[in-house]
This record gives sequence, C-alpha cells and structure tokens, in this order.
Amino acid sequence: MPRRTAVVRLKRGKEGRARVHPWIFKGDVADASEVEPGAVVTVVDAGGRFVGRGFFNPRPALCCRIVTWEDEAVDARLVTRRLAAAVDARVADGSVPEVGRLVWSEADGLPGLVVDRYGPVLVVQCLTLAMARRRDEIVAGLRARLGDRPVFSLDDAVTSQLEGFAPAAGWVDRAGPDEIVVVEGGVRLAVRPGVGHKTGVYLDQATNRTLVGAAAGPGDVLDVFAYTAAFACHALRGGARRAVCLESSPEAIVGAHRNLELNGFVDRAEVRAVNAFDELRRLDRERTRFELIVLDPPPFARSRSAVDAALRGYKEINLRALRLLAPGGRLATFSCSHHVDDATFAATVRDAATDAGVRLRLLDRLEQPPDHPVLFTVPETRYLKGLLLQAV
Ligand code: SAH
Repeated sequence: MPRRTAVVRLKRGKEGRARVHPWIFKGDVADASEVEPGAVVTVVDAGGRFVGRGFFNPRPALCCRIVTWEDEAVDARLVTRRLAAAVDARVADGSVPEVGRLVWSEADGLPGLVVDRYGPVLVVQCLTLAMARRRDEIVAGLRARLGDRPVFSLDDAVTSQLEGFAPAAGWVDRAGPDEIVVVEGGVRLAVRPGVGHKTGVYLDQATNRTLVGAAAGPGDVLDVFAYTAAFACHALRGGARRAVCLESSPEAIVGAHRNLELNGFVDRAEVRAVNAFDELRRLDRERTRFELIVLDPPPFARSRSAVDAALRGYKEINLRALRLLAPGGRLATFSCSHHVDDATFAATVRDAATDAGVRLRLLDRLEQPPDHPVLFTVPETRYLKGLLLQAV
C-alpha cells in the first residue's frame, strides 16, 4: 500500500485535463494545505475522487506534475522502473545509443528530469525541486540499468531558481573525462561536460543534422546560429565545398573550431564571431550566395507575450537568408519556440519568401528526433519544427 501522502484537491471541472496532462497550475487547485515543497501528493477531483499522484512545489505557478494515474506509491522503485523503461525505449539494434537523450521529462513519465548520454558519461539535469531531491535515487537507478559510469549533474540556473533549489553543476561522485568525442551520423563532435549550452550538444537536432548533411551537395554552406558548427560539419561531410559559420558566443566558437579540427575540415570552414542579423545583412550587400543555408536560431519566443517580436525575428532572418540563396539552393529553417506553432512558422517563412520574391519547393518537414518523444495529449512536448526548402 502506498504511504499516506498529502492531498491536493482540484477545482471543479479541472480533473478532465488532469487525467491526460500532468501539469497542474496553482489556479487549478482548490486546496493544498500543509504540503511540503518537493513532496509527493495525491491529486483528487473536487468530489475527492483519485486522479493521480505526483510532485508538488508551491513556489512556481506550475505547482504539481502528475507522475502516475494509478493508485501506486511514487517511490525509488517507481523512479527506477521508469528510468529503465525510458532507456529500453531507445534501444536500437540491441544496444543503447552511444549518444542521445535517454530520459526526457514528461514524455518519459519522469517530469522534471533530463538524462543525456555522451559515450561513457551520463549528464543528469534536474528541473524540479522534487527531482533534485531524488538525485541519488536517479543516479543509482541509471547505474543499475547502464552500468557504473561517471555522472555529471548540470541543473539549469533559471528553472532551479524558479523551483527554489541550488543548481548542481559537477561530477556526482567521481570525475569522468574532460572531453568526450561522440560520433553522430559519421561526424565527430566534442563534448566538455559542464561547458557550452544544453548538456553539451543540441541533441534535438541530431537527426536533422544528418538529413541536412546528406542533402548538402557540392556548394557553399552558411550555418547561421552555428553553436559548435555541427550542421556545418555534417554538410562538409556530405560534400559541401566550403562552410561559413555565424555564431556570437565565444564559448561556442571555441567548440566550433574544435569540431572542425576533429573532422579535418579546418581548411574548408570559417567561423565568424558576429551577430547573425548584422552579418546576414552584410552578406546580402556583398551579394555572396550559398547553395545551402541553415537557420537554427535560439527560441525567439520564450513566452506567449513575446510571439509577435519573435515572428518579426523569424521573418527577418528567413528573408535575409532567402536573398542569399543561390538558384536551386536549399534552406533548412527551424523554430524551437514552444509558442510558435507549425502553421504560424510556415506562414512566416512564406511571407519572407514573398518579400524576397523566391519560389520554394517543400522538400521535407523536419521534426525533433525520436529520443525527444511527443505526447500527443501534452502539446508542450513538441516544440521543434523545421522546413527543408529549395529555390525553384
Ligand atoms: N545549430 C546548432 C544549435 C544552435 S542554438 C547545433 O546544431 O548545434 C542557437 C545558437 O545561436 C547558440 O549557439 C547561440 O549562442 C547563437 N546565437 C544566439 N543569438 C545570436 C546572434 N544574434 N548572432 C549569432 N549567434 C547567436
């Protein structure tokens, strides 16, 4: 029998959504008296009927995340079981992939937890107080399934402040390697645990990088918002003649040089420390042309109120990029803003094409990879969208 847990009672009418979506906001709650931050709670509807059980934190607006809709205990056994299931779901050809996301929060039934694998190393990111408190349990569960490997903790500063815990950054018990080289679709990528964005690599673009690289052709490539030049490396591997990478973060630029060197592409690539908006304008004035352009900007809309400004940003970079496209050239353009949906993004790119006077064929719609699974009833789990277009 599950231990007695505190009870969170929903307002009338809020139970329908809570049966398919794990997020409960403060405004959905009628009563949550005496619940300790980070504790497990039982969620009931207005009439006191069981809805689910999850983690509670009174501090953020998103105060509860349901972990199970069964009347079962949320304990170390459940966490270990869920970790193993998440890893099992990613097994391909009989083994766990050497590089990729092994656990992705709500989509794997472990809200607030991200686990990425880089070869021998695991990187654990706790995004909620409840998960941060279970870090030891999580590490033990991962090692039980994947062997006794070095684990690096890398919590996000913004979310940990929101949730009210000190973000961990560093090796959990014993140190692992300073640098790991992983192979993604034939391209070598360096990862330095704790250095750079995300957990080291933008893993959500892994399949798209391979796909775009294969579509590169022999021309010149412009990798805009390049981070560590991973798209450029794939395009060069795919036969591109030369790549120009645009990136503003000094740390990312160091990583870009390292990746180009690891793949033997130093002589065929240039990394420019620039503001991408300004450089796109300058390249247009110079009348430079590229056969492949990748636009992979940071999330311009981090909130709903920022959508209008974000759409202006997307339109601007797409318009500029389209003007730089050689006849028959390809554009891979992305948005990772949660608040910008497919249709709005596509309409914005179409607007840019109209202004640029460039006719485009749709070659492919690009998605987040299978190790970032989408829960259909939790639309927030789908955020990355892209279009592979060709000037006709
Ligand atoms: N394409 C990359 C991921 C890009 S993430 C990959 O596949 O690995 C977005 C990148 O844009 C970040 O590295 C960020 O530092 C950079 N960036 C953000 N604003 C920028 C700007 N105005 N000009 C140039 N780079 C910028």
